[in-house]
Amino acid sequence: MTFRPGLNHLYIPGPTNVPETVRMAMNVAQQDQRGPEFGAFVLSILSDLKPIFGTTAGRIMLFPGSGTSAWEAAMVNTLSPGDRVLMARHGQFSALWAKMANDLGLDVELVDLPWGAGAPVNEFARRLGADREGKIKAVFVTHNETATGVTSNVAGVRHALDACFHEALLFVDGVSSIGSIPFLMDDWGVDLAVTGSQKGLMAPAGLGILGVSDKAMAASRSNGMRRSFLKFDDYVIQTETGYFPHTPPTPVLHGLREALNRINREGLDNVFARHARLAAGVRAGVAAWGLETCAEHPSLASNTVTAIRTPAGVDAREVIRVGLMRYNTSFGSGLAQLAGKVFRIGHLGDLNEGMCLTALAVAELSLRAAGARVELGAGVAAAQEIYEQGTPAVALAA
Ligand code: PLP
Repeated sequence: MTFRPGLNHLYIPGPTNVPETVRMAMNVAQQDQRGPEFGAFVLSILSDLKPIFGTTAGRIMLFPGSGTSAWEAAMVNTLSPGDRVLMARHGQFSALWAKMANDLGLDVELVDLPWGAGAPVNEFARRLGADREGKIKAVFVTHNETATGVTSNVAGVRHALDACFHEALLFVDGVSSIGSIPFLMDDWGVDLAVTGSQKGLMAPAGLGILGVSDKAMAASRSNGMRRSFLKFDDYVIQTETGYFPHTPPTPVLHGLREALNRINREGLDNVFARHARLAAGVRAGVAAWGLETCAEHPSLASNTVTAIRTPAGVDAREVIRVGLMRYNTSFGSGLAQLAGKVFRIGHLGDLNEGMCLTALAVAELSLRAAGARVELGAGVAAAQEIYEQGTPAVALAA
């Protein structure tokens, strides 16, 4: 394997950088997951996750696995084979969600959009309004499409449902948003909110995390999909006692506990403000290079990941290759139809201004090596302007 001195700078949009204290907290002896203290330990995690999901009314369930296991748990526990579900495909993760629904035997009503668009609130409203017989049983929104760096308007979709008194469940993928940007499960009337431990929550992968509303719980008591490992009935016990139905990944839970301590110390609003500020700097850098982001409109730009289109004739894969091989820096790749056309800078989780400036500096070097005409320092300077104005992530001691 190639020897690369210094730190590997990690700017993939998940798994994200795991802070040192989180790594240390995971160095625990194996413990009795049925022992007297374990339940209270897990309950403390569930309780601290609730404000991050924006819920007091909902339950939080932890599934061994990744975000995708929570996706599957959401679907198999609340829907029945052949149910019609309304989805949009505007990036790799919304596409994968639609594929899963199809694999599970749901009747997928798909709105295909350019990759870079947001969830089609008006088109959803039109289709829901036309669905007089209530055939659509669920609407799916990818809150933050990690493949394109687009954040969608979940509140708008809730409004569309309410405006026509539609009873469909609202499923939201918050894998790359929850813990980094505001997520308001109760206010938006989200019935199933999905994330994983490895992005905004700054822990390693290992847990699929699901917010479940009372309405979704009620649906789970009468739906017709087969399930076993992911059955809600077993996880309801977890929400009440903290004990897992199967063997839990205890080190990941200890890491997540410490990550939540960090979020509590910083304060959730400060976490959101930091992500907004860091993202604004990265976007200013991209604009200074004269390059475009994948997001169709600035109002859709994500505060957790920026997907940057390389100029015609410049292969984004080469930018990524140079970044890693020459500068020990990892950028996210363009997924599926965006391969070679975009590279992504993930700016979520445990990150500060210096780290974003490094990302921009290395991206400039890598873009030039790949053939793009980018002025050295232009993106860095533009981001510095933004960071100089805002409250820095690390406050000076008095
Ligand atoms: N949804 C989104 C928006 C994602 O970004 C990802 C992963 O990057 C997933 C779902 C899948 O999550 P996981 O890889 O944790 O299963």
